[in-house]
This record gives sequence, C-alpha cells and structure tokens, in this order.
Amino acid sequence: MATETIFSKIIAGEIPADIVYQDEHCVAIKDVAPKAPTHLLVIPRKVIPRLCDASEEDRALLGHLMLATGDIARQAGVEEAFRVIINNGAGVGQTVFHLHLHILAGKEFSEAQLGF
Ligand code: 5GP
Repeated sequence: MATETIFSKIIAGEIPADIVYQDEHCVAIKDVAPKAPTHLLVIPRKVIPRLCDASEEDRALLGHLMLATGDIARQAGVEEAFRVIINNGAGVGQTVFHLHLHILAGKEFSEAQLGF
C-alpha cells in the first residue's frame, strides 16, 4: 500500500479541507497556503506518490484528472487564464507525495516563471 499523506486523510474525511469539487476518481480542495488568488489542488483518490510513479493502468485516471481540472477551473470562473502545475520530486518543491495538480489563477505569471 502506498504511504498515507495529508491528502489521503483529507480524502478520507479525517482532516478538514475546503472541498470545491469531488467525483468518483478525484477531489479538489483550496490550497491551505494559496500562492495566487485562486489556488486549488486536484487530487486523485488513488494514491500515486509522484507523476512518474503512474503506470499504464493509470492512463484513464490521468486523462480524467485533466478533464476534471478544466471543469474545476470553469466552475471557479478562471477558465480564461489559469496555470496547471505538477511538482514531481522534492528537488522541484514537491512536499506532499500524493500526486496533485495545482490550479493557479488571478495573478500575473511571467513567461519565464514556471513555478509559483
Ligand atoms: P507540492 O509542494 O507538494 O506540490 O504542493 C503541496 C501543496 O499542498 C502546497 O501548496 C501546500 O500549501 C498544500 N497543503 C499542504 N498541507 C495542506 C493541508 O493540510 N490542507 C490543504 N488544503 N493544503 C495543504
């Protein structure tokens, strides 16, 4: 079994979070320390520590996460301008080892600035 993280506890309802969307495969919450006016996290219910730990069996789930991310951005009213970020590995700032997509919007992002 993959390691429990704060996100599995949030998904299990053991820790409170501001849930903005949920379906059979994923949950979206507001980031507790937002780096932009809109900062949401799209988290699969299945624990996959990092993007590079996903495998062929996760193909449909990864597609689902992308489509859900568009829906969630639309629901948040930021569909005209938002950025999606996945941090893979501590070296680029991943702190929670349960795959998640950051949705960031509502501030200027420079072309060169890939992080937040
Ligand atoms: P990472 O750095 O792993 O890509 O992103 C983890 C994100 O999770 C960070 O932006 C951090 O603020 C957020 N985060 C960490 N703990 C919690 C929590 O308990 N609740 C919520 N809502 N967000 C959290």
